[in-house]
Amino acid sequence: MENFRKIIQNNRAWAAAMVENDPEYFHKRASKQEPHFLYIGCADSRVPSNVVTGTEPGELFVHRNIANQVLPSDLNAMCVLQYAVEVLDVKHVIVTGHYGCGGVKAAMGTESYGLVDHWLGPIRNVVRWNRGELDAIADEQARFDRVVELNVLEQIYHLTETPIIQHAWAKGRRPLLHGLVYDIHTGLLREVATGIDSHEAADALAARRESGVPAGPPPVAGRFASPSVLAGDELADAIAQRVLKQLDGARGERTR
Ligand SMILES: [Zn+2]
Repeated sequence: MENFRKIIQNNRAWAAAMVENDPEYFHKRASKQEPHFLYIGCADSRVPSNVVTGTEPGELFVHRNIANQVLPSDLNAMCVLQYAVEVLDVKHVIVTGHYGCGGVKAAMGTESYGLVDHWLGPIRNVVRWNRGELDAIADEQARFDRVVELNVLEQIYHLTETPIIQHAWAKGRRPLLHGLVYDIHTGLLREVATGIDSHEAADALAARRESGVPAGPPPVAGRFASPSVLAGDELADAIAQRVLKQLDGARGERTR
């Protein structure tokens, strides 16, 4: 309870200090938010999003989960992404992993942690897809670090595959995608992918890896060469057309 009380005391002291420095500090931020960034990070307590990026309230729209994943089946993440891209019109989407990530480590091992084992399944795939590269890394710590980086890159790919990002790019809106890894030992952010703004840029990332440059997730032929993928309004229109066609067909059969 003492630790909890300390949090309330800290809050009072922080709010007072902010107002002392700028009497309008909260007033300026209370009416609306116009963040330029969507930050997707790990839930790990050692990687506080605003602190490590040096940003103020109102500057980052944030989604965090275990091992900073972007999964299309995650309604929470998809809602955050859609709101950030389509309503807040963020200019950048940043996936931030961190060295020493417990989630990534768990996915590399065989120990069971309960429900979280299911959540970490996609990271086990990242390990499996990159088995060749990872097996060639003799040092255990370096291998662990590499999986952290590969996991961030994989999430960038997941972002490029969402109808939300595809739709935004098709409309000429350009949320740039970035992948960062935070070093818990130095406090520094490392860029592993920067300024991804198209399928071509994502493909180039995969090509770099194919050519031996250690960057990017496993190359899958044609994986991102699908600009014809229907998304958003276009997809809804196509489904509506299909339904109308089926209804017409059913009507025709009834009248025969
Ligand atoms: Zn983590």
